[in-house]
Amino acid sequence: MQLSASRFAHVQRVAKVAVELAHQYGGDVQRADVAGLVHDYAKQRPDAEFKQLIQQEKLDPLLLQANNGIWHGVVGAEIIKRELGIHDAAILNAVRRHTIGDVNMTTLDKIIFIADFIEPGRDFPGVDQARAAAAQSLDAGVSFEVVHTLEFLLSKRARIYPKTIDTYNAWAAKP
Ligand code: GDP
Ligand code: FE
Ligand code: FE
Ligand code: FE
Repeated sequence: MQLSASRFAHVQRVAKVAVELAHQYGGDVQRADVAGLVHDYAKQRPDAEFKQLIQQEKLDPLLLQANNGIWHGVVGAEIIKRELGIHDAAILNAVRRHTIGDVNMTTLDKIIFIADFIEPGRDFPGVDQARAAAAQSLDAGVSFEVVHTLEFLLSKRARIYPKTIDTYNAWAAKP
């Protein structure tokens, strides 16, 4: 087992919420379950492993200036492919996009992005609003989450990965 007990409990809750959202919104229930369970598979890997993979797999060089928050999804998908033998593109993309989203997102991408944010163990100011938005529509849930996450990162003066801005512009910025 490569995840702490609390992280494992989190991924189980994410899978459960993802399955519920898939039922509610006509998503792929089985993929939602699997993607929920594996989405944080690489979360507890050392930084050096991610940096090596970014170079080996010739991923976006800007990733080298990011951190675990970004890496465990974008680079984590490569680790899942190698170690778990999951080659399903839809599942791997949902993992890749679960932290920073993307300009274009599939129903499964949205489900995992949102389930990770609103699972019942989450307790941050705004989580109830996030749950209400997700109950309205997947797009409302994504839009709320994108703004909330960016505001949170700015309040900490965190470095923003460029794709996070692209996602914000696509989902939440006024025309
Ligand atoms: P978790 O893996 O279940 O804890 O949740 P996530 O995968 O959604 O989040 C990982 C972390 O990445 C969160 O703390 C986010 O705030 C953070 N994060 C998301 N986008 C960015 C970004 O552009 N820059 C930085 N520095 N962190 C980000
Ligand atoms: Fe994550
Ligand atoms: Fe998230
Ligand atoms: Fe997570």
